[in-house]
Amino acid sequence: MPVALRSSAIVFGMTVLVSSLGYAFFAAPQEWKSGVDWHEPAIITSGDGPAPPSDAIVLFDGKSLDAWDGVGKWKIENGYAVTGGGDAITKQEFADCQLHIEFATPEKVEGSSQGRGNSGVFLMNTFEVQILDSFNNETYFDGQCGGIYKQRPPLVNCCRGPGEWQAYDIILHAPQFHTNGTLKRPATVTILQNNVLVQDHLELLGDTPYTSAPYYTPNVVKGPIRLQFHGNTVKYRNIWLRELAAPHV
Ligand code: MG
Repeated sequence: MPVALRSSAIVFGMTVLVSSLGYAFFAAPQEWKSGVDWHEPAIITSGDGPAPPSDAIVLFDGKSLDAWDGVGKWKIENGYAVTGGGDAITKQEFADCQLHIEFATPEKVEGSSQGRGNSGVFLMNTFEVQILDSFNNETYFDGQCGGIYKQRPPLVNCCRGPGEWQAYDIILHAPQFHTNGTLKRPATVTILQNNVLVQDHLELLGDTPYTSAPYYTPNVVKGPIRLQFHGNTVKYRNIWLRELAAPHV
C-alpha cells in the first residue's frame, strides 16, 4: 500500500476509534425502572415549629382533653396538661403510627429512682415508653426515661433537667398474628427523644408490666394511647399522631 494511502487508513481508523470511545463516554445513561406503578404520595404540609402536620390527629392542642378519657382530675394550665388522679387514655384506638408528645417532669426535685417524675406513654395501651426524671437520678437502666419499661434501656441518656420541656417522636409498628393467634411479627418501636435516637427499630417482647415477663395477648393489633399517672405531676403538651400505612401501588 502506498504510504499516503496507508496514512489515510490509519487516520480513518483512529477517527472511528475516538468516535466510538466518545459515544461510550457521552451516550445518555439507560434508566433502570423497578416496574412498580406507585401511587403518588399524599401531599401534606409539615407544620411550622410546634404545629402538627396537616394529616395529623391532634390529641391535645393545649386547650382541650376531649380526645381522652380518665382525665377528670387532670388540669389544663397555660397550654399544657398536668397529670392527676388516674391514667389518661385516648378514646380512639391506633395501630401503626407516628406519635409526637412533649413532656416535662417536675421542676422541684422530689423522690428518687422510679419515684421521681414517673409517667409513661403506653402504645396500644400495652407497651410503656418510660417517662422519668432521669437527669442525675439512679434507677435500673431499663426503667430510665427513653427506655421500654423492663425490656430495653435507652441507647443514650439525653434527658434534660427537671422542669425542662422534652419531646418524644415515636414510630410504632403494631404486632401481627397468624390466624391461630400465634405471633407472626412482633411490634417494633423507633424513638427520638429531644431529636436523639434512643430506640432503633426495637422488636418488643410483649407488654411491659412490673410484676411479670413480657407477654403478647393474641390478636390484639391496635389500642389507645395511655398516659400514666404514677403519683407525680408530669406536664404534657403538643400531642399529635399520624396513622401510618405502607406505600401502595
Ligand atoms: Mg412509668
